[in-house]
Amino acid sequence: MATNEEVRAIFPTSDDLEDLMEVPYRIRMWDTDVLRLWSPSGRYWDVPFKGFTVARDEMDQRLADQAVAEGAELRTKTTCLTVRGNEVVTDRGTFAGKVIVGADGPSSRVAKSVGLPNPVTGPAMSAIVEGDFTTITDLYFGNLAPGGYAWLIPKDGCANVGLGAWQHFDGNLNRLFEAFLRRQGLPLKRGTGGHVPVLGPVDRTVKPPVLLVGDAAGHVMATNGGGINVAMITGRIAGTTAADHVLDGVPLDAYEARWRAAVGGPLAQGARIKKLADRFFGSDRSLDLAMRILGARRMARAVRCQPLFFPRRAAAKAF
Ligand SMILES: Cc1cc2nc3c(=O)[nH]c(=O)nc-3n(C[C@H](O)[C@H](O)[C@H](O)COP(=O)(O)OP(=O)(O)OC[C@H]3O[C@@H](n4cnc5c(N)ncnc54)[C@H](O)[C@@H]3O)c2cc1C
Repeated sequence: MATNEEVRAIFPTSDDLEDLMEVPYRIRMWDTDVLRLWSPSGRYWDVPFKGFTVARDEMDQRLADQAVAEGAELRTKTTCLTVRGNEVVTDRGTFAGKVIVGADGPSSRVAKSVGLPNPVTGPAMSAIVEGDFTTITDLYFGNLAPGGYAWLIPKDGCANVGLGAWQHFDGNLNRLFEAFLRRQGLPLKRGTGGHVPVLGPVDRTVKPPVLLVGDAAGHVMATNGGGINVAMITGRIAGTTAADHVLDGVPLDAYEARWRAAVGGPLAQGARIKKLADRFFGSDRSLDLAMRILGARRMARAVRCQPLFFPRRAAAKAF
């Protein structure tokens, strides 16, 4: 996950991060300080980026505990089948709600059942591999992970090793994953997979009484695939808007405007950069050339979903 300092650099209008990120910070495992971006030909650029790792299952459990302590009723092993008006039909009964938040991931059934769009996604897979690693996060680009990248994120005595591809990928991801492990001299592991939104948020995230949040809304930084920080920021906005609606009659449409004001600009910018980058992803040669032209400074801006080039006037002012 990105530190609050990095999140503030990416989303300058997000606030109260200390309070929001209390749980991840409490269970913080390992600090990372550099992203090493590898081109297909084996050249690399170091981008300073402050992050930290967490055990995801523990983080989710603690967040759920916090919600329960605040009065939420937690129902596990309950699958949403469809949403009808104000009712959520599940395999364990039907529940009514004044507001329904679809936080059910990138293939959101909540979204589908009310006619809201699902985000464009690409497949991804990862596994934990034991060993001693540095504090550098390695990201490998090229046909080893078409349209995406392969990663090695160090943790305490182990690393999260994974690989994600673009939306056009229709091959065998497991085979690519194994090839990457072999290439790195790592033991073969069974990866767990999923889908990651790759082109930013969907056009519409509200259809009263439904709000979409997190991966269901495409709240992921398209240039790095990170969605945890964003899902937490937009999750709080969804919760606050739901409360404002129930208590003060604030229209649910306010959610769309609120999350776009907090994170919408950088997420849209990230999607634009990713679409541009997709033009070079087809061949290792063109990708290599593009990375050389961009260099570390511009790639650092891309990773943070910032415009690659300064507008002329802003550049002039900077001097
Ligand atoms: C392999 C991989 C590695 C990743 N690595 C990183 C990383 O290092 N850093 C980072 O920031 N992001 C990473 N991401 C992205 C990150 O996992 C997501 O952006 C983030 O989890 C989004 O949170 P969410 O709550 O919106 O969705 P999810 O975490 O996907 O949670 C959705 C939940 O809804 C449940 N659900 C789905 N359908 C239904 C239904 N019909 N009824 C009931 N429940 C349902 C699911 O079981 C799940 O528990 C990675 C993604 C993948 C696939």
